[in-house]
Amino acid sequence: MPDRIETESRKLLGRLRDALAESSEGQARLDKVVGLIASSMRAEVCSIYLFRDAETLELCATEGLDAASVHQTRMRMGEGLVGRTAKSRSVINTADAPNERGFRYMPETGEERYSSFCGIPIQRLGDALGVLVVQSKAAREFSPDEVYALEVVAMVLAEMTELGAFVGEGAALSARHTQPVLFKGTIAQEGASEGNVYLHEPRVVVTNPISDDPDIELARLRSGVETLRVGLDDLLSGNANTDAEQKKVFEAYRMFANSRSWLARMEADVGNGLSAEAAVEKEQSLARTRLSAAGDAYMRERLSDLDDLSNRLLRILTGQGANTDELPENPILVAKNIGPGELLEYGKALKGIVLEEGSVGSHATIVARAWAIPLVINAKGITREALNGDTILVDGEQGIAHLRPDEDVQAAFKDKIAMQTRAQERYTSIRDLPAQSKCGTVTALQMNAGLMADLPSLDGSGAEGVGLFRTELQFLVRNKMPQRAELSTLYRRVLDAAKGKPVAFRTLDIGSDKVLPYMKANDEPNPAMGWRAIRVGLDKPGVLRMQLQALIRAANGGPLSVMFPFIAQYDEFKQAKAEMDKAMARETILGHPLPSKLRVGAMLETPSLAFAPDAFFEEVDFISVGGNDLKQFFYAADRENERVRKRYDTLNPAFLTFLKSIADRCAKYDTPLSFCGEDAGRPIEALCFAAIGFKTLSMRPASVGPVKHLLRRVDLNEVREIIDASITAGDSSVRRAVADWLVYQV
Ligand code: PEP
Ligand code: MG
Repeated sequence: MPDRIETESRKLLGRLRDALAESSEGQARLDKVVGLIASSMRAEVCSIYLFRDAETLELCATEGLDAASVHQTRMRMGEGLVGRTAKSRSVINTADAPNERGFRYMPETGEERYSSFCGIPIQRLGDALGVLVVQSKAAREFSPDEVYALEVVAMVLAEMTELGAFVGEGAALSARHTQPVLFKGTIAQEGASEGNVYLHEPRVVVTNPISDDPDIELARLRSGVETLRVGLDDLLSGNANTDAEQKKVFEAYRMFANSRSWLARMEADVGNGLSAEAAVEKEQSLARTRLSAAGDAYMRERLSDLDDLSNRLLRILTGQGANTDELPENPILVAKNIGPGELLEYGKALKGIVLEEGSVGSHATIVARAWAIPLVINAKGITREALNGDTILVDGEQGIAHLRPDEDVQAAFKDKIAMQTRAQERYTSIRDLPAQSKCGTVTALQMNAGLMADLPSLDGSGAEGVGLFRTELQFLVRNKMPQRAELSTLYRRVLDAAKGKPVAFRTLDIGSDKVLPYMKANDEPNPAMGWRAIRVGLDKPGVLRMQLQALIRAANGGPLSVMFPFIAQYDEFKQAKAEMDKAMARETILGHPLPSKLRVGAMLETPSLAFAPDAFFEEVDFISVGGNDLKQFFYAADRENERVRKRYDTLNPAFLTFLKSIADRCAKYDTPLSFCGEDAGRPIEALCFAAIGFKTLSMRPASVGPVKHLLRRVDLNEVREIIDASITAGDSSVRRAVADWLVYQV
């Protein structure tokens, strides 16, 4: 960087800092800033356009254009050269603006007199905030050094905009993060709730974008990078818990952290007057812009590594980032994404969850559903917009979230919540009645659980037992492997809380998206089809044996039901059952009482098991269909990938016919059969399952009421006729036919 520009840029930043420090109104500040930039760039015009809403840019200050057009001139994203700069998030630098593609003549500003145009996006961490423009009469392109200086200034403007430095009365410019924003996402768990934002990872705020002393900032930057490097080295060398996949990521981080060009660019920015953290953010913004444009998967991955690395460095430099705030009242968790373990740590205190990513089939979603916490996923941009403590309404019915809603929306929402409460109350009147359909068939409705905290729902929901107790959730909430005695006490408490109602304990189902922090994870290309569940249990039987013993002891001479997850072939069931036999023998020797009645079941989660030999159906005490997994393998559609998951309906004749063939085989051998995937809790699906022969359905507690209500209204023989007719007609799903028919049922 030539010295002159370096000092010019630094001088300009120095003047900017003084201007910004003056305690004037936001508009006065902006006016001063454009004046300063124009004079130091020797340009006749300098203007700042800021986003009024996601699509509209507004001229907020100008030196050189007609002052009357301030707050009057607006353009849409992509419109004119200013809109194009914002849309492309890249610099437009031209000596002949009127002949540049996209030029839009705005008579109110009198800009036809200017030939040169240089537009610089004002963006913070990839978030477009506005455009900085300089124009001059002389036909010339701005030099790379001038453009660089403007970029540095734009960076500072972005930080100051974020901090609300340009907010004020006459400015008609409202502070960021104060307006109501509606996020349209995807429904993951129904329900409506009102509360206050709690960010899983709070944003880092840079309060000092311009440095007082470049030497001090340079030293801070270098020491921050050094701390970052040492931290990464430690992670890579010392930590035995780091699995191969994580190691690969950290190695990529280390490569970036040691990259000379990354550091050199940040050092140059600091040399030109930015603070250390502003320099890191400038680089990060650049990487994010490239990330949003990158089509190549490898490139995207590397750029998000760089993004994460910049976050780490920012946290080191600012000392911010760890969420130390207390949970607010009625907390609504806002996050990019979250794993089931992390969600369990928050516990049931959460009133709602809004995720930028997420998936309906993930275990975090299952946990939220089990707890009946409204969950909206795919709410793009919410982690950038929301601040801790903001009011937020989560509408799980429609898959939307209102951030900082105005009063009208809040009032309408309160009505919605009241209506929901009334609907739930309707179900309490049938809570103690059986799910007996008009044809006389009684379907047993049970609930899914996984934590002690779920058990009180047994009474409240009217569930007749626990059809699936996901034991791995207990393992996920801990930071070390639980001991046998601890587990046995816990299972005992579960059985006590169930007060004699049956509980089907599923042995540990880890792997896939359920990763225990204290167990060495495996580097597998596709963990959902990898070493998980019973495969781990049989290959490394230590934990399985410990768990089986704990279960036998918990039963303490009473009845016990245990099922093994992810059994893909008869042989696996035989081996797992042999482990159970061994555990019984061991407990006998140790003098512990054996269960009065032991039922050993298998979860049918892979299509292969439906074709197991007859002997399997005769031998197994019961079968529970894990529809979440079964469906993903039946359709070869990842349950966590929203794009493909949504393509396939559970009520497609192919899947329904397949389920019916399982029900028929079970009926032939009198093998008790249940369905415990999420679909069992969806009323129309539940109705169809019952109609094709499922006698037990296990679902999240909040679904028991609605499912029972529907089952009691219908004759299952008629439902079966509707299904058969729809399949014969070649419908791609029987859903429509069943739903239409239901309209006429009283
Ligand atoms: C299933 O796959 O349907 C199931 C109940 O197990 P999980 O969702 O825990 O994988
Ligand atoms: Mg499963």
